[in-house]
Amino acid sequence: MGFREKIRQFMYGRYGADSLCQWITYFVLFLIILNLFVRSPIVSLLEMVLLAVCVWRMFSKNIEKRSRENALFCQKKSKVFSWFRKEKSIMKQRKDFHIYTCPGCKQKIRIPKGKGKISVTCPKCHTQFIRKS
Ligand SMILES: [Zn+2]
Repeated sequence: MGFREKIRQFMYGRYGADSLCQWITYFVLFLIILNLFVRSPIVSLLEMVLLAVCVWRMFSKNIEKRSRENALFCQKKSKVFSWFRKEKSIMKQRKDFHIYTCPGCKQKIRIPKGKGKISVTCPKCHTQFIRKS
């Protein structure tokens, strides 16, 4: 039996690598680089523990549970990513736009900056008001 066959047989019924493992590996790589500078035994220990968790998950036979962990991780990850995207677009809007509140209906209205004094018409209640942009 060849080496590849042996590996395949060993991995049969085991969970294998997933997105969570991949991100743990990236994080460990980051820690290794970080530790070149800080040289902390705690960081080294953390690297070991994370790698052990990664390997243990890959070889785990509880595929259902590992899949759930991965799904939960992916869910959290996409939440974090969408939060960053939202923050980024808010930052960009703050740079390029003023946000005014309509005196009539409290609707928030986005006005591009740098246009001088302009008359704004609320798209919701059609109240007109003058603002400096
Ligand atoms: Zn209004």
